[in-house]
Amino acid sequence: MKRIRPFILSGIFASLLLVSCAPPQREPGLLIENVNIIDVAQKRVIPHTNILVHDGLIIAVDAGMSAANYEHSFNAQGAYATAGLYDAHVHIDVTERLSMMLPEIYPAPVSPDQVDDDQTPYMAYGITGVVVLDGNDDILAARERAKEHGKFVPRILAGPILDDPERNNPLKIGVSTVEEGRAAVERAAEQGYDLVKTYHLESVDTRNAVIARADELGLVTMGHLPPSMSFEESIVPGFDNIAHLEEITRNWNGEDRAYLTNALQMVAEYDISLTPHLLGYREIVEEIEDIDAKLKNLDWELTPLLARVYATPPYNGYVDDFGGDDIRERAAAYFGRIADVMAELTLEAHEAGIMLLAGTDAGNPTMLPGQGLYRELALLRAAGLDGYDALAASTINVAKLFGEEEERGAVTPGKAADIVLFARNPVEVELLSRDDVFAVIKDGFLFDRERIDAEIARVSASYDAREAQYLEVASAAREAQSEAAE
Ligand SMILES: [Zn+2]
Repeated sequence: MKRIRPFILSGIFASLLLVSCAPPQREPGLLIENVNIIDVAQKRVIPHTNILVHDGLIIAVDAGMSAANYEHSFNAQGAYATAGLYDAHVHIDVTERLSMMLPEIYPAPVSPDQVDDDQTPYMAYGITGVVVLDGNDDILAARERAKEHGKFVPRILAGPILDDPERNNPLKIGVSTVEEGRAAVERAAEQGYDLVKTYHLESVDTRNAVIARADELGLVTMGHLPPSMSFEESIVPGFDNIAHLEEITRNWNGEDRAYLTNALQMVAEYDISLTPHLLGYREIVEEIEDIDAKLKNLDWELTPLLARVYATPPYNGYVDDFGGDDIRERAAAYFGRIADVMAELTLEAHEAGIMLLAGTDAGNPTMLPGQGLYRELALLRAAGLDGYDALAASTINVAKLFGEEEERGAVTPGKAADIVLFARNPVEVELLSRDDVFAVIKDGFLFDRERIDAEIARVSASYDAREAQYLEVASAAREAQSEAAE
């Protein structure tokens, strides 16, 4: 007895010491405190809560968690959290485009750093993922680099373009027979692509074989409807996404609205999603109407060089081609009418139950990375979608298209920690601006405002330097030209 008692006492004493003197045990993870979560599925805001993030995943959403218990914390100050946005249709400028368009500024091959810098606008706008519709080796390499933890680039989903070999499209993989189609899809799967983009494949059999093989291998099929076939021939089960709403109007006579309604019904029936891309015609109209006003509204700081060149005359063909005032007016009216029809059809598609995606076709003239997506979301709302449905087109719907809705697309436990925090409720704001971004979290890595601003300052300076270089080359070329003319 005498020997046991002190032993017990010292045991109790020791454990008391542990409790009182050791620092409190902090759990691993980042607690994002004081946040409102936008739940697009239920169309509600979950107010005043916290998000626990660890190892690239959302671990918990709970108002009761306390920052004192976690290794890291971040006070979101009442910001609104949504799943990181996706732009469901982009082109990232790599060697093929840059060195073709601006060979003096971008000697081939374009450096990986340059490719990554040109994606900064996406992240600065809270776009943590992009769908690239002209994949190639440069894009595959960028896709790998984007997996690096803490890198300020969005996640890349990508696929190659399968197209008619006769067409003048330098970025395509030429496919004409069923065998070639199947082989191209198999190769894409081997390379690790997420999708294939079907362009103007000439034969119904070949296109159907591509779609069927892609389905078997788990690749998403997105793209255009070939003009060589009827709408009925091109709308087949297993095809996943029509990359532009105007495709629906391809064989339309411009009068018979029932034709379009039937077409949308068919798209709905086969469970094919649609990327309206309302931005396309609206941007053209605005640029024809008043290019100076348009340029003034551009986020020039975050406009990479090629997009700056594309935006400005004489490169900007929409402004120049139409020449005189009368022609300009008629052109604006023509494109304006198309834009209006597109908006009407978007609402009709939405009401028919077609899943809509927000995509900008950024990388093409007049479509800007980052800023373009906010415009597209605003246009989806102007077409009649509510704020939640517009946001869904940029979050959960993209996850659904790629079969990732269990892993991504919402701020719920178990999903990837790709989150954007907005200072204002994005569901209520008519047109977001990048100043509304409070913080961006990608793969669980936090980019607060200070970090985002530092990235913006860095790439903006590099865009400016390249622009200065470009202007110098361009003016030297003009001088040489006028000397030759004399
Ligand atoms: Zn495109």
